Formats: sequence, C-alpha cells, structure tokens
Amino acid sequence: MLSVALVACTAKQPKMEDECLYSPSKTQFAFWSNVAEQMEVRIYNDANGDTSLNDANDVQTVALTKGDNDFWTASVKGDLAGKYYTVRSFQNGEWGLESPGIFAKAVSINGQRAAIIDFAKTNPEGWENDKRPAMPDKTDIVVYETHLRDFTMSPNSGVVNKGKFLALTEEAPLAYLSDLGITHLQILPMFDYGSIDETTLENNRYNWGYDPVNYNVPEGGYSTDPADPACRIREAKQMIQALHQAGIRVVMDVVYNHTYDVMGCALGRVVPQYFYRLNEDGTYANGSGCGNETASDHEMYRKFMVESVCYWAREYHIDGFRFDLMGIHDQETMRQIRAALDEIDPTILTYGEGWAAMAPAYPYEELAMKQWTYKMPRVGAFSDDIRNALIGSPFDHERGFASGNPDGKAALCLGLVGYPEWAGEPMQHVSYITCHDNYCLRDRIEVSASKETEETKIRMNKLAQTAVLVSQGMSFLYGGEELFRTKRGIDNSYQSPDSINIIPWENLEKYADLHDYYRQMIAIRRAHKGFRLGCAEAVQQHVQFIETDNESLIIYTVNNLEGIDEAKTLVVLLNGSAETLTCDLPELTGDCVLLAYDGQANADGLDFAPNDKIDVAPYSATIIAEY
Ligand code: CA
Repeated sequence: MLSVALVACTAKQPKMEDECLYSPSKTQFAFWSNVAEQMEVRIYNDANGDTSLNDANDVQTVALTKGDNDFWTASVKGDLAGKYYTVRSFQNGEWGLESPGIFAKAVSINGQRAAIIDFAKTNPEGWENDKRPAMPDKTDIVVYETHLRDFTMSPNSGVVNKGKFLALTEEAPLAYLSDLGITHLQILPMFDYGSIDETTLENNRYNWGYDPVNYNVPEGGYSTDPADPACRIREAKQMIQALHQAGIRVVMDVVYNHTYDVMGCALGRVVPQYFYRLNEDGTYANGSGCGNETASDHEMYRKFMVESVCYWAREYHIDGFRFDLMGIHDQETMRQIRAALDEIDPTILTYGEGWAAMAPAYPYEELAMKQWTYKMPRVGAFSDDIRNALIGSPFDHERGFASGNPDGKAALCLGLVGYPEWAGEPMQHVSYITCHDNYCLRDRIEVSASKETEETKIRMNKLAQTAVLVSQGMSFLYGGEELFRTKRGIDNSYQSPDSINIIPWENLEKYADLHDYYRQMIAIRRAHKGFRLGCAEAVQQHVQFIETDNESLIIYTVNNLEGIDEAKTLVVLLNGSAETLTCDLPELTGDCVLLAYDGQANADGLDFAPNDKIDVAPYSATIIAEY
C-alpha cells in the first residue's frame, strides 16, 4: 500500500521540453498554459509564407485538449518530419499571436516557426562516443571566453569556416587553445537570438547575441545553412565534439533573464505576462535594462530554466553554464539548477553575474546576487572586487593595484585567497579582470595610464593576469588579452564591426613574449595545486601573508604543502609600483625554483641563484617554488 501511495504522490508533471515529440508514425504535442480557453497547433509545409487559414493545402490546424497540470496536448498521425508548426492560444475573446512555442528544439530561418525533425539524424559521426574531457580535480578550471566571430573572422585565423560553429572543428583554433592550456571555452550566446537577420548573413553583421528568441535551439547565423533546421543542430554538435576531442570543455553563455522583446517572443505570446515580472502598475519590470525581466520565481519559468540547462547538457553535451545577469534570478532556482545538473554530471560548471542592470522587481535578499553566493553552493559569481582592485572600476578611469594605485591592496588580498565575505568557497569566487563587457585589458590600461610606455603597459597587463592565475578563486580569462588585443577604446562592442572585435592573430609574432607569459602562467597554475586549494579551510591553513610597509607590495606564501603539491612552499611577491623593490624572503631551506620574475614566467623554472633577498622589478610578479 505504501509503495502505491508513494507512486501516486510523485506522479510526474509533464516536461516542458516535450512540446513536440516526433516518431515516424505520429507526432505528439504538449504545451503549458494556465489561462488559455482553447489552444491549437498549426502545421505547415513551408518554413515561412502564407499563414491564411483558408489555404487548406498549406496549413493543418489541430485543436489541443486540456489535460492535467494545465498541459494542452494532441497526437497527430503520420510522418511529419520536414514540416513546421506554430502554437497559439485563445483567451479573453480572441486568438493570440502564433509562436514556435517556448521549448522549440528546431526552428525555421530566424526562428519564426518550429520544425519537426528526426533528432537522431542530427548527430555527427561518433557522437555516441563523445565524452566530456576528464577533469580529475574540481579546481582544474581555466576558462577562456570568446565569441565565435571574434575568434575566427580574422583573415589571419587560418580558418575556412570563419565565424561558424564549424570554425571550431578546424585544426588551427583547436591547436591554439590546447597549446595555451585552458580547460574550458566559454562561448558568447550560441542559442537562437534575434539581432542578426539569418536571411542576410552575407552582410556580415556582428552582435554579441544577448537577445534570446528560442532558448533551446542553436543560433542559425553560426550554421552554414540556417534554412535547414537540422544543419545548425548538427554543426553545433560537431563543434562540441571537436572541442571535447581537443580536451576542452564547453561553457554556454545563457541569458534566461530577459527576451529580445515580449510580444515578438514565444514567452510573451504563449501565456501573456506569466513568464515576466511586472511592476505594480502592470508594466513590464526591467531589471535587465533591455525592456523586460523574466520571473524565475514563477513555478513554470523556474521549471523551464531547469529543464533547458539539462536539455543542453544532455542533448548537446554542454559542460558548463555562465548565467547572464544572474542577480535577476532567485537563489532557489539556481539551487534547483545545480541539483538537476548534478544528476547528469556534478562536474558541470555553473557561475554567473551576481548583479542586475537595474533593480529587479523581487526582494533583494532572495535574488542570486553576488552577496548571497554562499547560499548557492557550487554556483560561482564574477568577482568585480578583484577586478576593480587590480585594474580599477569600469565606472571611472582610475588605476588599480597592477597599474600603480595601491588603494586596492586589501581587496586584492581577499581576492587572492578567494573567500571574501560573499563566496562560500574559493572556487565560487570567479577571479577575472576583463570579459566581453567594458574595456579589454589593453584599452583599460590605456585609459588609466596613457602616459606610460608600451613596455610598462605590458608589465601591468602581465601583473594583473598573474594575480588572477595565482588566486585561489576560479580563473577566467577574456580571449585575446594574451595577444594584446585592442578594441580601440570601445568599451561596449556588442554591435561593433569585426574590425573592432576580432582577435588579431598577427600579434602572435609581435607580442610573442606576452603570449608566452600567459601560457606559462596557466601551466604554473595547473602544475601547482597550492594555487587552487579548493576549500576555504585549506586556504586558511596554508596561505600566509607577510607584512610589508609598502602599500604597493604584496608578499604571501602557500606553505606546508606536503601531500598537496610537489612544492612544499610557494612564495608570491606582487609589486604594483614603478620602483624595483628589494625584499626579504621567508626562510627557504629546500631547493628553490624561480617560476616568474621580471615579466618572464616558466613552469619548469627560470635561472635563479637563491639568496635571502630578492628584487621584484617594477609592475611585476616574482614567484618561487621551494621543493
Ligand atoms: Ca537567430
């Protein structure tokens, strides 16, 4: 009796992702609406075109029946592969606008209609053997952020399929990323977004893509044929498969916090208002600064988000999610996402921006804001604290510690240990100085220290990134900084042309020294577990700051590392001043290897004569490993 009762209690709610389930003999439809009085699916032969109900050859209208849990369903006999559909609902005396549904998994060009396809045919060869690259330790993470166009549109990229998913199946970019030593590639939005017209791709327009249309379909503009609904799906999978084969995990940038617009998107059309937060006067709240904000606190939008990330993790083998304006979502939703992903694979990464563009229409203490990161275990948040301490705040043009302003020293020390008051564990503290937002590093240093020589600016660049890579937080790098990229002073390049956004591969030769420094610092981090102890308790136990009377100097050791790191002590000295500083070293009795000194780094060690004093050159780091 007990078991029967349990089954009854846990009867499963239908899945939102099952809006359209295809088989060669029938296709089943199921859409959720708690307000519709009638709902119908309209099946088309064409991707776009005449939608007149009078044209019986072009459209078949199927009434949906309301069942349990406000899901409306129908089953249509026959093989519908190759056809398209929309859904619409009747309420308050009128039919609403058609849409592809909120969980369309394949769509027509520009995402106007959903497509019925056989998903088994979208898998590239060998997909069944595709595996996430090994990640033996939860701290084995160095994220590299890029946009598909930034990374491959340059004439010097060595890529044939420039700006496409297939670009990242080609040898040159994969070899570059493997050689750099990063573990995770974070790709700017690759779901179907609205700002690029997929019918005029020859115009080569650029957009970051933070304007979601269909959350569960890859963007058509990155495929070689956006008019073929299966093409973008197959090519996105090919990209992920190739990155996995190169040993690199893939992080998706997800933007569940707002949609391109309200009435142009399925969320606004299928169930008007429900998926969004409203102001008291009935207008749409706007915590995103983009005209609307979604309502993760509403049960069915929360369910949608949870199912959507799990769908990408299962169907596309995505290895991590970066949540745009995560502070708009509520903490409970983020915890449920974490729990659902854990059931698929606990090594799937989750982190996001712990802030909003404007105040969301929801109680602050319930939101997934940075301040409450500790309430969402294993969900990370970007640390604007370490960013501002190192290079200055994006809201002014002041220098930071790495460019000669010691004011940030105390905040930087907290960032180095990765457990400021808000992060429960150091890996929840995403250590970074730049990302696609705001100035890139070269431009940031330029606006705050324009009169310095290029040699000095490169020193500042290396020093700032060194602090990121030795921080106990999770490392995050913006792609192209290692090649001294510039966006020519543009601090919001979301729709700037390729000429501003592309990574300049020709710099690989000119700035080979900078590139090599990044590569070596990544190797040093990955070789030394002491720089990524993984929990706050271990950090407290092993990291010790040494008092200095110079505000521009930080010295600390990571000590007693027997059984943790091959080195028994790591010594880090960071000099944010224009002077060479001669420092007393802590007593080191073992064999010492110099890992970084005067703007050079080598994971195997630089030439070094151990002494009880050491010089730290202007704007540079000295790192010593004692064995
Ligand atoms: Ca699109």
